[in-house]
Amino acid sequence: MIMTIDLRSDTVTKPSEAMRHAMAHADVGDDVFGEDPTVIALQEHVAGLLGKEKALYVPSGCMSNQLALKAHTTAGDEVLMEQDAHMFNYETAAPAVMSSVQVKTVPGVRGVFRAEELPPHIRPALYYMPATRVICVENTHNRAGGTVFPLDEIKKISAFCSERGILFHLDGARLWNASVATGIPVSEWARHFDSVSVCFSKGLGAPVGSAICGTAEFVTRAHKWRKVFGGGMRQAGIIAAGALYAVRNNIARLQEDHEKAKRFAAIVNDAPGLSIDMEAVQTNIVLVDVQRTGRTPNDVIAELKRHGVLLSGGTYTSVRAVMHLDVTMEQVTKAAETIASVFRS
Ligand SMILES: *Cc1c(COP(=O)(O)O)cnc(C)c1O
Repeated sequence: MIMTIDLRSDTVTKPSEAMRHAMAHADVGDDVFGEDPTVIALQEHVAGLLGKEKALYVPSGCMSNQLALKAHTTAGDEVLMEQDAHMFNYETAAPAVMSSVQVKTVPGVRGVFRAEELPPHIRPALYYMPATRVICVENTHNRAGGTVFPLDEIKKISAFCSERGILFHLDGARLWNASVATGIPVSEWARHFDSVSVCFSKGLGAPVGSAICGTAEFVTRAHKWRKVFGGGMRQAGIIAAGALYAVRNNIARLQEDHEKAKRFAAIVNDAPGLSIDMEAVQTNIVLVDVQRTGRTPNDVIAELKRHGVLLSGGTYTSVRAVMHLDVTMEQVTKAAETIASVFRS
């Protein structure tokens, strides 16, 4: 029997024994009444880490991002984001469904756009045009392959937003990875934004949840909308305990995942027909372009599955490998060597 090495996503991890212990013994209460001490502890811890007034625990990263749009906008507003943004591609048109807003996309390079490129995308104040209300940034950028949005550019975009009265939102599902990769604390990134979403269920390895963070006034509005969206939870301390364990114990170790990605990329990039933009390998995600093999990403995924390596779709022309805490360096090396040998033969 071949052992399967699962590199589809950093969401496939299962809670460790220590995390399960923390969850099983969590102190709980009814969080809709605001009485769950573990949820409160998690929210205070995360707000403190990010340097924001408040954080709100929510069931998913999608809900977190969409609550931010709901709290920041009114129907008919426009929201700007990069064309490969998660919020535009993988959230089921939720900005239209939940907030009745229109998304306008901005082209990026490896998921990054620059402040100086924004002026033509901003709507003039004409009654028959939508108002540009929010600009969103994704850091790290999922579909671009885990790339870091440079802090200097974020500062410039933040200043641009302030001048024009536009709100600035960060989809920081993997902000932890950006922080570990650069050595810049999460609070240094977060301070430039009006709202920040972070996930506990990606590289940090918690089973459920994200947090939306910002001023107390903003979080009070997001809290109300969380109830409307069906995200009010009762003894949520059981799952919040996993998230609290994750932020306390699993941030610094993300460095190991970044090393695994570099090792994987170096081996796979050598295989005939496969190519990797090595400059984009900055954190825990590797996009492998398969165009030169003459095969589709789905075909490549199916073939590698037969060899015990699970990957997922990246873009139209690439497959995606994601490093996480449930795969060892040895397994990652073995997966990369298997892929290279499949394409050599
Ligand atoms: C995973 C992810 C989300 C949303 O996460 P869910 O918890 O699956 O809803 C949002 N943004 C980015 C960049 C992500 O990678």
